[in-house]
Amino acid sequence: MIESKQRLATTAEVVAELRARRAFVMVSHVKPDGDTLGAGLALGLALRPLGKRVYYFQQDPIPRNLRFLPDADKVSRTVPDDLPPDTLWVFCDMSDSSRAGEFLPPIARSNMLNVDHHLKNSHFAALNYILERESSTGTCVLRLLKELGAPITPPIATALLTTIMTDTGGFMHSNTNAEVLRISAEMMERGADKDLITNEIFANKRFAAITLVGEALATAHIEQNGRFCWSVVDDAMLVRHGADGEDTEEIVQHLRSVEGVEVAALFKSFEGDVRVSLRSNGRVNVQSIAAALGGGGHFRASGLTYPGSLPAAIEAVRAALRAEGL
Ligand code: AMP
Ligand code: MN
Ligand code: MN
Repeated sequence: MIESKQRLATTAEVVAELRARRAFVMVSHVKPDGDTLGAGLALGLALRPLGKRVYYFQQDPIPRNLRFLPDADKVSRTVPDDLPPDTLWVFCDMSDSSRAGEFLPPIARSNMLNVDHHLKNSHFAALNYILERESSTGTCVLRLLKELGAPITPPIATALLTTIMTDTGGFMHSNTNAEVLRISAEMMERGADKDLITNEIFANKRFAAITLVGEALATAHIEQNGRFCWSVVDDAMLVRHGADGEDTEEIVQHLRSVEGVEVAALFKSFEGDVRVSLRSNGRVNVQSIAAALGGGGHFRASGLTYPGSLPAAIEAVRAALRAEGL
């Protein structure tokens, strides 16, 4: 049994635990992205040939543009009821276990492994493998696979390249360093299908998505002397375009790309919830702004669910930005 500890786990300690356990559940965060899913799938794909039982838990449906991931069809909102008591639950890409949602059974801390790269991870597990400098959780998993000596098969390489391309915005974000490109090249050499990933994640949009993005951009606001650009998508807009929440992904990226903008925000008001996506161009730390409002994330990309109305959410973000000197 592993002890609860505050210090971070080493690669060797995590790999010893992976070898010792017989069954695993890979847990991804709500509204999953290519990093949380790809990281868990890559780890599962590597462990199964070692005779391990592997399951994937996700409470939400898999987004259309991630269904190409190897073994995506094995991801489920339920887990078998005959799991051995020493099953290891591997939480991927989440700063806190609450990001897994509300439908997990109670899990002992000693049976949790936390693999992540977010700032201010809450260290909720017995084993916390947190590498804040990594561009994606997938590259944290790759370190584990190398220490484990697991072969990087083409499906694993595709899953890992997906994590990188998701979290670097197709190699455009500032977390794209030389090491990221070297690892990506290695994944391609091992059979990762980059063109498939590019097409599924960055192209292949539904027509409804394009017209929805058009309306969200046409109704965007710019304030604070051009430093803050924001827009809203609500239920009525989705209905007008025949779109859904998955079709909103790229909007905040466009808002951030406006000349002079320091911070961009997209307010998504769906079914009574207000979710906010925040992006920074590097001067303002949007992780601390999101954290102050109950969310979290990274310096340049963060998010939160606001416990109040849409106008209140907009005002709260404005106030938090002013407090940060924007
Ligand atoms: P999004 O704007 O939803 O793409 O999220 C951007 C980043 O913020 C990702 O790294 C998420 O993991 C993180 N994030 C989003 N929503 C939350 C939340 N409610 N709590 C903590 N982190 C979040
Ligand atoms: Mn994520
Ligand atoms: Mn990530």
